[in-house]
Amino acid sequence: MAYAYDDQNIFAKILRGEIPNKTVLETDHTLAFEDIQPQAPVHVLVIPKGPYVTYDHFAGEASADEIVDFNRTVAEVCKKMGVTADEGQGCRFISNAGEHGVQEVPHYHLHILGGRRIGRMIPKAD
Ligand code: AMP
Repeated sequence: MAYAYDDQNIFAKILRGEIPNKTVLETDHTLAFEDIQPQAPVHVLVIPKGPYVTYDHFAGEASADEIVDFNRTVAEVCKKMGVTADEGQGCRFISNAGEHGVQEVPHYHLHILGGRRIGRMIPKAD
């Protein structure tokens, strides 16, 4: 079954400028902004501007330009926020997908969490 994109999701509204965001970085294909309910001192969400639902959807169907731009933006965000593992103290990259992944917003996003020790990779199921 193909992915169906819901253009009423909150990140689509952010991309259309219908609701505000605290932008960290923006490029032609990618937007990085602060999570509204941060789980760590650094909690940035990186999203493609295209209509992709999950990481696998984006990885499978986005153009090479979009994929390179997204990944370079992730690297720039890490540097800007001081959470690289070489010069900073590292971070956790998370992307939730679908029901089992407990994804709340159906627009692909990568969480970048840092500024403290993040803890176990996979907690008990809720
Ligand atoms: P997920 O469970 O991976 O889909 O995570 C969705 C994330 O989006 C959560 O961490 C929310 O706090 C965050 N979020 C929801 N609405 C907004 C918003 N308007 N601006 C920034 N982050 C948001």
